[in-house]
Amino acid sequence: MKLEGGCQCGAVRYSVEGEPQHVAFCHCADCQKSSGAPAVAWAAYAADDFAVTAGAASSYSSNGDAIRHFCPTCGSGLYYVNEAVLPGLVDIQVASLDKPDTLQPQAHIQVAERISWMKHAASLPEFERYPG
Ligand SMILES: [Zn+2]
Ligand SMILES: [Zn+2]
Repeated sequence: MKLEGGCQCGAVRYSVEGEPQHVAFCHCADCQKSSGAPAVAWAAYAADDFAVTAGAASSYSSNGDAIRHFCPTCGSGLYYVNEAVLPGLVDIQVASLDKPDTLQPQAHIQVAERISWMKHAASLPEFERYPG
């Protein structure tokens, strides 16, 4: 299955083909600091199945061999490469896909570093928009 995604401003676009090797929420402190969010959903694809199709991402080594790629204009996080820990794989940020519903996370990883209140986040009250 071919999927497309990109950054918020549209300058950087990418595609992935085939099936992801795994899809998971990462709760590590590195993802938290990089995204400014409590967790990041990732989908790991073989590097050969990933292509940047428009523009070019900037990159930053957030932690040793971890290279995070993001749009230099709007800052959207896009993909991650770590040849030491995940050789041959490119992790894409699921929420940067045009249709993020397509890839369902299968697990929570790195929960040793999870922000404590995230454990029960799914049980919070919900509002269609804002509380009335
Ligand atoms: Zn952008
Ligand atoms: Zn992480």
